[in-house]
Amino acid sequence: MAKQVLECSFCGRKKPETNLLIAGINAHVCDRCIEQAHGIVLEELKSGGAASKAATDLILKKPKEIRAFLDQYVIGQEQTKKVMSVAVYNHYKRLMQLQHEEDVEIEKSNIIMVGQTGTGKTLVAKTIARMLEVPLAIVDATVLTEAGYVGEDVESILTRLLQAADYDLAKAERGIVFIDEIDKIARKSDNPSITRDVSGEGVQQALLKLLEGTVVNVPPKGGRKHPDQKFIEVNTKDILFIAGGAFDGIERIISKRLNRTAVGYTTSKNVDNIDKDNLLQYIIPKDIKDFGLIPEIIGRLPVLTHMDPLDRETLRAILTEPKNALIKQYQKLFAMDDVKFTIDNNALDYIVDKALEYKLGARGLRSLCEAILTDAMYDLPSSDEKQLHVDVDYTRDALTKNLLKRLEIAS
Ligand code: ADP
Repeated sequence: MAKQVLECSFCGRKKPETNLLIAGINAHVCDRCIEQAHGIVLEELKSGGAASKAATDLILKKPKEIRAFLDQYVIGQEQTKKVMSVAVYNHYKRLMQLQHEEDVEIEKSNIIMVGQTGTGKTLVAKTIARMLEVPLAIVDATVLTEAGYVGEDVESILTRLLQAADYDLAKAERGIVFIDEIDKIARKSDNPSITRDVSGEGVQQALLKLLEGTVVNVPPKGGRKHPDQKFIEVNTKDILFIAGGAFDGIERIISKRLNRTAVGYTTSKNVDNIDKDNLLQYIIPKDIKDFGLIPEIIGRLPVLTHMDPLDRETLRAILTEPKNALIKQYQKLFAMDDVKFTIDNNALDYIVDKALEYKLGARGLRSLCEAILTDAMYDLPSSDEKQLHVDVDYTRDALTKNLLKRLEIAS
């Protein structure tokens, strides 16, 4: 019997006439048919309309699933992960409900995270956006000013979001905005040296409108450099806002309040149980108000959560445990040159010691690793060495040579 020539089950082309023929269980498909089918799928999605696409994009994950996803990337921060999971779940439930147009309207669950810099606030926001596959804009509140002053208008936040969504309006309107350093726009009236409050309360007022949900005319390319551009109308009612800030000094406000309550209630029992090293865990909205955010803003950021300071154990875990942990990243980089990179536990402990000693936080871990590995990353690609084992001596020598001396001079 003549050998049967395989052919595409869709168009009938024989194998030699195709570039590629892929086998299925009982059929074959050629590269041309795949391309065509892909085109049809895209076309179908488009003609379904942006809104229905956005609706199908919305994968509702349960809080525990959201939490499990966060766990892959964020170490510790138990309270924030739990609170965030619920807030994000409710936010998206609310969006689903709007699609069914029922009568009880669920309010937005915008979030405010309070915690020292480098404790993972941005990381949490990024991870949530990655999980939901929605666009994320990260903006710094310090650059925002009231319209008319030098700096960026509040609308520029939405320009960023549009850009992150590749100008897909429906997507942008379901995106996430992370406003960093929200504490820096606190009212500064307590501070007598500042006479005009350019970046304080006025910005809070402007921000308030966005948080509340409103239609904003957004210059798609941003700012004042392109005065003739057409505006895009962005509705912010379904955008999830997450604000973050270090709120330096808020511990004093918390501690004062705690002491006051303790005195008021005669026993000092409550005060005895207070963990003085982590006062942020007792934060309540009033503390933020006393810090200088206006009550309306606080009302629009109803979910309040705190970030724990990173202790030794957490820093150590950050090096190796997250899905894209630093050490894993370096292993991958070396593997691309066929180099197997391993590192001792003692060396990892040493890195953490130095991060703590020089108060470098989680961000510092990166610079420490760079300082340790730069020589190897420079030399190994051109050598025959296929192994790199880093022990504590290697770590100490490399760090002393490349970083610590400079740090000592700086401090
Ligand atoms: P923040 O926004 O609070 O200033 P970031 O989220 O930017 O801090 O954190 C800086 C970096 O430190 C992150 O990119 C991440 O690599 C690391 N990091 C900080 N906290 C954590 C954490 N809890 N888990 C994992 N990595 C963390």
